[in-house]
Amino acid sequence: MTTIAENIAHIKQQLPPHVTLIAVSKMHSAEDIMLAYSAGQRDFGESRPQELLPKAAALPKDIRWHFIGRLQSNKVKMVAPCAHLIHSIDNVKVLHELNKVCERLGITARCLLQVHVAQEETKLGFLPDGLFAYLTSGNAGALRNVQICGLMGMASNTDDMEQVRREFRLIRQLHKRGRELAHQPALFTQISMGMSGDYAVAIEEGATLVRIGTLIFGGRQV
Ligand SMILES: *Cc1c(COP(=O)(O)O)cnc(C)c1O
Repeated sequence: MTTIAENIAHIKQQLPPHVTLIAVSKMHSAEDIMLAYSAGQRDFGESRPQELLPKAAALPKDIRWHFIGRLQSNKVKMVAPCAHLIHSIDNVKVLHELNKVCERLGITARCLLQVHVAQEETKLGFLPDGLFAYLTSGNAGALRNVQICGLMGMASNTDDMEQVRREFRLIRQLHKRGRELAHQPALFTQISMGMSGDYAVAIEEGATLVRIGTLIFGGRQV
């Protein structure tokens, strides 16, 4: 068995310098997170507000927490103050709620818009037309307390790596067009895609952030 530190070192060897590794620590203990931290890892991903909050409170303050799970409007005020980047903004309502909450708190949140490209009903997110329509609308330009920093997406859960590649390529194309339409194109730089099973393909197709859990921490107990 390899250690968490060895797993991180092994993955990092394969990452080009412009790609950031996010260690997805959901359902793993604070002890395991600290093993990764001691190996130099600073970016961690969590998918549930009730898990993120106690971890963020207890663990070192220089950790950058990435929120990658489904975000409901009523949980936005929990997540906004402790997230370095929220990857999973999957509809306009939650985006506007985020802006409202941040205005009240006097902070600015950084987020990505999640796009739906997989062949699965269960994957949430903006469809291409909805994404472009929103980005060109006055609403996006009126957000004062949210910075839209790019896109996040997930490929279908399939062994067909050519399909996975096509879906990642589509995210890259959506990002390119989205950046042309964005109100602050200089901020619209990130593409979050790729997990344990497909991150190599994601990097080839333009990922700047990869979200890897199992390959670092092992399997999750459900
Ligand atoms: C759990 C999760 C990951 C990590 O998945 P692994 O297969 O364990 O690497 C990445 N992204 C999201 C959105 C997740 O929920």
